[in-house]
Amino acid sequence: MVLAELGQKIGAALQKMSKKTVVGEEEVKELLNEIARALLQADVNISIVKQLQTSIKTEVALTEEAVGMNKRKILQQAVFNAIRKILDPGVKPFVPRKNVPSVVMFVGLQGSGKTTSCTKYAAFFQRKGLKTALVCADTFRAGAYDQLKQNATKAKVRFYGSIVEADPVVIAREGVAELKKEKYDLIIVDTSGRHRQESALFDEMKQVQEAIQPNDIVFVMSATDGQGVHEQAAQFKAKVPVGSVIVTKLDCHAKGGGALSAVAATKSPIIFIGTGEHVEDFELFKPEAFVAKMLGMGDITSLVDTLKDANIDSDSELYKRFQEGQFTLRDMYEHLQNVTKLGSVGKIMEMIPGMAGMSGLAGDHGTAVLKSFIYMLDSMTSAELDDGKVKKLMTPSRMHRIARGSGRSIPEVQNLVVSYTKFEDVVKKIGKMNFKQMTADPGS
Ligand code: GDP
Repeated sequence: MVLAELGQKIGAALQKMSKKTVVGEEEVKELLNEIARALLQADVNISIVKQLQTSIKTEVALTEEAVGMNKRKILQQAVFNAIRKILDPGVKPFVPRKNVPSVVMFVGLQGSGKTTSCTKYAAFFQRKGLKTALVCADTFRAGAYDQLKQNATKAKVRFYGSIVEADPVVIAREGVAELKKEKYDLIIVDTSGRHRQESALFDEMKQVQEAIQPNDIVFVMSATDGQGVHEQAAQFKAKVPVGSVIVTKLDCHAKGGGALSAVAATKSPIIFIGTGEHVEDFELFKPEAFVAKMLGMGDITSLVDTLKDANIDSDSELYKRFQEGQFTLRDMYEHLQNVTKLGSVGKIMEMIPGMAGMSGLAGDHGTAVLKSFIYMLDSMTSAELDDGKVKKLMTPSRMHRIARGSGRSIPEVQNLVVSYTKFEDVVKKIGKMNFKQMTADPGS
């Protein structure tokens, strides 16, 4: 992922500090400098870097005075909070609901991934049970009609468009009126992609907005556009009331920090991120989970979402145990078996706390590691799987027996125990959080 390198650098800086025996002013300064360097290298806007440094310093000072906690912990939390704050303007986004008719208009630069994101957005809410339709109000780009129609057909979403009408305002108005009559919950209107200086196209966008009075306007921006997108976002926002942002192409080899700093400038929440060309390469954006994943701390909320999407029962014993902060090797065993049902192992691995920072787990290698974990867990006795004190339990002779029984090496068994311990740690923390809120499900 695009920000993986940034996350690794910040993680390394925090790790370096945690190895020091004393954490004084010098060490904090050094950490802040390393973080600033990493952010600038990832193309994050300089004023945002400064803002971040200040907010880390303030939070550290305040927390230290208030509770006298371990300085390393405070710093780690302050770094996490400061990055999260940049990505979270504190505004609640519009969420389409079943049986509440709404119109959402998509705007953005040409090539940003707007049309693709419209379809992904439609498919997402259709999966949530909303009656969803797409309107093509792009009469500017040849092929826009065919592209959206094909996408809609593939995703089995109702499509409205016209090859004879040349006025996008007429198409948008008539399309929305007809689909409202047909009782659609969510009507998504795709507009022409703008270029920078096309004032006529900007006026047209305004006219479409006035004609259809959307409940939300989604601005689509590409992570590959860098810091330049800041000015464009401001131009769009000045013309129409942009309410939400989708950042696309976060799977591409761009630095990503530029686009993310531009989002901060829009003061609108990011609602989804695009991580590929296919309709399923679309993730609900939750700043906390995103930053946790970026910093290699795992992303349990996305994991839960993915499991829910795969129709794995969210009332299951496993979820209840998560809520209670309980986690044994048997839970890990069941969890891994669920995960392997889901296919895309690379993405799933990034979401599993403790495994997010492990390199080279994408694709086939990731599948192989997961399977090796399952074989090793298969070789354990019921007592071992159900015992809560795994570290104590895993004596060298036990590990030897498990390695032999599963045809794996002792370091592999040790690796399994380390992964389990990290996972258990996070599950315990999750147990203390508001689990319902963390996994709040839009559109249901
Ligand atoms: P529009 O001009 O803004 O409507 O852009 P399109 O939706 O036609 O997308 C432009 C190109 O970007 C197409 O080739 C898409 O397949 C591709 N694209 C869109 N979103 C993503 C994404 O999240 N990741 C990647 N890798 N490609 C994307």
